Amino acid sequence: MRLDKFVCKSTALTKEQAIAAIIDGEIMVNGGVITDTATQVHENNDVRRAGARLYPRPFRYLLMHKPAQTICSNIDEVYPSLFNYIDIERPQELHIVGRLDADTTGLVLITDDGRWSFNITSPNKLCPKVYRVKLRQPIDENAKQLFAQGIKLQGETQLTAPASLAIIDEKQVLLTITEGKFHQVKRMFASIGNKVVGLHRETIGDVTLDVSEGQWRYLTSDEIEALR
Ligand code: URA
Repeated sequence: MRLDKFVCKSTALTKEQAIAAIIDGEIMVNGGVITDTATQVHENNDVRRAGARLYPRPFRYLLMHKPAQTICSNIDEVYPSLFNYIDIERPQELHIVGRLDADTTGLVLITDDGRWSFNITSPNKLCPKVYRVKLRQPIDENAKQLFAQGIKLQGETQLTAPASLAIIDEKQVLLTITEGKFHQVKRMFASIGNKVVGLHRETIGDVTLDVSEGQWRYLTSDEIEALR
């Protein structure tokens, strides 16, 4: 990871303070002063401040049930940030893995491990996400085949990756997708002439939402490994 991140994760310094400490020559890596904040360092490197070796804190992995009218951002905007519901130290170090729209509810993963979140969000990794979708119009059975083949969303050049649709009743379906394009689910249904009126994410990979709205918990080590 970058040296400024390493210093943040192993001290009580904020990002700005960590950057200042590095630029001021307070940080030694493997016996030499390093003033480039972007220098890549590994956990095994001997990183010191005022002679004391620094050890990064372990990564954190959380699951949360996002309420409607909240946003997947670290700061409040038109709606309050999800982080208002999470009473945790150093929330600014955490990021949300694959954002949901303000009006979407359900499963959100939160971490400070960028490599882990990349595995979940990268379309190449094919991590399935299941959404419960409420529709304005009755679902057209042809949608199953269209979504399985991939469809061209407005403004995109490539087809969506194969997605699977399970019909619960005429206006409610479960959609499994492996990508996370902007407003993807809403745009997929718009492209077949329907409209999403309710959207809820139920699972990501093998992780299933099991806490009530506004609640959160840490992931188990099995859940963390299963998403790696
Ligand atoms: N697709 C959407 O359209 N919105 C979301 O919040 C998530 C997936």
